[in-house]
Amino acid sequence: MLAHVVIGVDLGGTNLRSALLGPEGEVLDKYKEATHASEGWRSVVNRLAESIQRQLEFATRKGLAVAAVGVGAPGVIQMHKGIVVKSPNFPDWNNLPLKQELETMLRIPVFIENDANAAALGEQWRGAGRGISSMILLTLGTGVGGGIVLNNQIWQGADGMAGEIGHMTLMPDGRPCGCGNSGCLEMYASARGIVQSYREAVASTGSTTIEEITSERVYRAARKGEPVAVQVMKGMGRMLGIGLANLINIFNPQMIVLGGGVKDAWDLFIGAAHEEIMRRAFQIPAERTEIVPSLLGDDAGMIGAAAVARQMVGLRV
Ligand SMILES: [Zn+2]
Repeated sequence: MLAHVVIGVDLGGTNLRSALLGPEGEVLDKYKEATHASEGWRSVVNRLAESIQRQLEFATRKGLAVAAVGVGAPGVIQMHKGIVVKSPNFPDWNNLPLKQELETMLRIPVFIENDANAAALGEQWRGAGRGISSMILLTLGTGVGGGIVLNNQIWQGADGMAGEIGHMTLMPDGRPCGCGNSGCLEMYASARGIVQSYREAVASTGSTTIEEITSERVYRAARKGEPVAVQVMKGMGRMLGIGLANLINIFNPQMIVLGGGVKDAWDLFIGAAHEEIMRRAFQIPAERTEIVPSLLGDDAGMIGAAAVARQMVGLRV
């Protein structure tokens, strides 16, 4: 009998992915379905429980004992209490005791973690950060998520709410952010930020080759050499680089991993980001920090949630 398998779940606003993972993080079974967030919290929690139940039954058929379940969820999570305080993807979730709900239904230990924190541990366990003990992950997607792994552990903070790298202030009077602050990194280094920067640049220069502005079209225009798009992507790289320089000076990490859809535009922003890092961070940590793309892609959250579950029940990651 193979001991110590865990279930990892990535609860996204669009998709719900779950997997059964072996002791080395090998995926023994995985499953994906639509979340249907608009049906309300009870319906989503039931669907989540059914998805986990399916993995539990698979494990039983294979003679495997499941030690725990980890769930990565978007939004503000109080990890230690297992509560989703609020989530942009689930507007009706207010202080939802997700851990308690699932443990009551499934009768197995459940741990809830912020999805980006989970993804950071996933990349460290099985992805770009294998063999690295201290690294930081930024997911550059619609927004900017972050997770900090120090000495092989997610840095949780006093309330389990640390790692909100996307809400680092870069511009004191900058663009208003959904978090209530203004000038957050997320407002400049996310897909949404890129679209807004492009709109603003077009409004002031009056020239564009793009009809309907999306982040992908900005990347394409930049690769074709459209000056406005090239400048917008360099500007994005610059803001990202300032954020990374701050992180490097504070944490002196071995590695920074960049994930999320925006990493597809890597060649368009990374040069400008490196310039800012070398200009602003201390030389020794700046030169030693490897900045690399994520390897696990969409699986990072699910694998990382399983890693969280393993750590919480005292298993090796
Ligand atoms: Zn913010």
